[in-house]
Amino acid sequence: MAKGKKQIPRIVFGLIFLVAVFYLFFSFCGRSASRVSVDSGKRAVMGTFARVIVVASDLDTANECIDVAFEQITKIDELMSDYKSDSEISRINKDGFDKPIKVSKYTYNVIQRSIEFSKLTGGAFDITVGPLIDLQHSVPALTDNDYRQACSKTGYDKLILDKENMTVQLAAEGMKLDVGAIAKGYAVEKAMEIVKKNGATGAMVDIGGDICCFGSPLAGSEKWRIGLQDSKRVSDEISDGEILMVLAVNDNAVATSGDYRRFSMIDSQRYSHIIDTKTGRSCNELSSVTIICPSAADADALATAVSVMGVENGLVLIETLAETEAILISSSPEFKIFKSSGAGKYIE
Ligand code: AMP
Ligand code: MG
Repeated sequence: MAKGKKQIPRIVFGLIFLVAVFYLFFSFCGRSASRVSVDSGKRAVMGTFARVIVVASDLDTANECIDVAFEQITKIDELMSDYKSDSEISRINKDGFDKPIKVSKYTYNVIQRSIEFSKLTGGAFDITVGPLIDLQHSVPALTDNDYRQACSKTGYDKLILDKENMTVQLAAEGMKLDVGAIAKGYAVEKAMEIVKKNGATGAMVDIGGDICCFGSPLAGSEKWRIGLQDSKRVSDEISDGEILMVLAVNDNAVATSGDYRRFSMIDSQRYSHIIDTKTGRSCNELSSVTIICPSAADADALATAVSVMGVENGLVLIETLAETEAILISSSPEFKIFKSSGAGKYIE
């Protein structure tokens, strides 16, 4: 009798344990089964199209994540666009030679990170490129002197930053900042941060080919699949053209720079929108550079920098950077593909 009494609690404990295990198992399955995915579709912003896909436990959370992501992207565009006369970048360009301009932590952060990339890339990446971008509109009726003069108004070493007061000043008259090579990546990064904070369990943010992925998509594979466009066969700015290869990534950013979409045609000659600030001339060795690394702003800056540096120097730099890979495609007519040593693991 005494023996039987002792066995009852053990069975009860066993049953409670089993029920608990089943409860945990089914509640976990229930949660994962009730995940939803919402796709914002393409929306015009930052001079291009942005798209946000969010995976969350419910529709309200997913929709809220998409709203806050676009709010963040719009805010960064308002601070940094050189098309908007009241943006902080436009204010620096207008009055930054006369006095230090106080800026937000976002703009300060972008300028500071840009200077770090200028140092890392030996000046290949340089947001003081503005006067040379303006010059592009007059190509080819330009003299060497025009290039020399514009080059004298560039140089990241002529940027004066004051961290304590969060101000930016320009050391030479006529200097002009253009953060077009990093702002989209930065906006992707900040949008992703806020999407994560708002409860998403997975997401993809894409602003004009600057992409960041987190977690897994709802359907299909465990990884987000990103099509790399064939620079030979791109039709226009909106449609997706043909896919050259598919990248499969988790918790990584992918950015592509290239002259295959944005370039000028003057007298049948193609001019890339990416400029070497040392010569003032546009860079035409590569038709496309794709960088895969954890930070979207870093990927954006590096894609532009490697477009300037070319295959040899560009790949040497990429091999020195942790968790960073590159896929390069040379210009017409060869369109030869070059990859960093670890890029293959992302190619399907
Ligand atoms: P992305 O598409 O990210 O490569 O950025 C290209 C844009 O960056 C151009 O349209 C210019 O506004 C700007 N840019 C051009 N050349 C450079 C450069 N060498 N360093 C930094 N920004 C540049
Ligand atoms: Mg870039």
